Amino acid sequence: LFVDAPLRTGARVELDRGQANYLLNVLRLKSGDSVLIFNGQDGEWRAEVSVEGRKAADLVCMEQVREQAASPDIIYAFAPLKHARLDYMVQKAVEMGAGILQPVLTQRTQSSRVNLDRMRSNAVEAAEQCGILTIPEVREEENLERFLKTLEKDRLVIFCDENAPVANPVEALAKLGNNQAGLVVIVGPEGGFTDQERALVAAHERCVCVSLGPRILRADTAAVAAMAIVQSVLGD
Ligand code: SAM
Repeated sequence: LFVDAPLRTGARVELDRGQANYLLNVLRLKSGDSVLIFNGQDGEWRAEVSVEGRKAADLVCMEQVREQAASPDIIYAFAPLKHARLDYMVQKAVEMGAGILQPVLTQRTQSSRVNLDRMRSNAVEAAEQCGILTIPEVREEENLERFLKTLEKDRLVIFCDENAPVANPVEALAKLGNNQAGLVVIVGPEGGFTDQERALVAAHERCVCVSLGPRILRADTAAVAAMAIVQSVLGD
């Protein structure tokens, strides 16, 4: 469970109504039961539930069970989609190891207004779901050209493009070897990238243009496929 409070032995953590409801009525925990909590900074802790009345509960930190781990140096850069599809994309990218979520605005992006709070809460939910202790960073939307300009030159860019020659993406990435500089996975909008954008991305010093197969995938499906390949070759 993610909590927004410092964690140390004996610290008392107040739960909001939604969290208390989840622990008391969904998980049916009682006073003295244990729950694992994290705040994105202090590792994972075992805490004991202290029920107050029928609807409120606090937690008391007992001991640290896992140290804080650094988040993977993987930027997932994507053209924002609408509502439910964006929710899904964010959740899956986090579950598959993205450490930074970067919305990029492209010429064919249809949703240029991004609800960053909603993205953050989806990222928190995904982190809770899969046991990641560091909440991925959610960055403000950025124009594709500016985003590329700010990228480190030695960062590996995995550019997912349905126009790329179909070849085995696992083999293509496996050949790259050393990945100390971190990487960025780029997935485009519903209407795909323009040729001008393709050239812009391909101009990055360490860009690999990757095909995810002969079919054109929905952008949210491409997110899962791309991150699965990255994890299978370069992940831990
Ligand atoms: N119209 C659909 C939608 O609404 O999602 C499909 C859009 S597809 C053009 C969106 C992005 O997914 C592309 O820009 C590309 O980054 C990625 N993508 C889809 N199929 C792909 C493939 N076969 N290989 C590599 N990338 C792909």
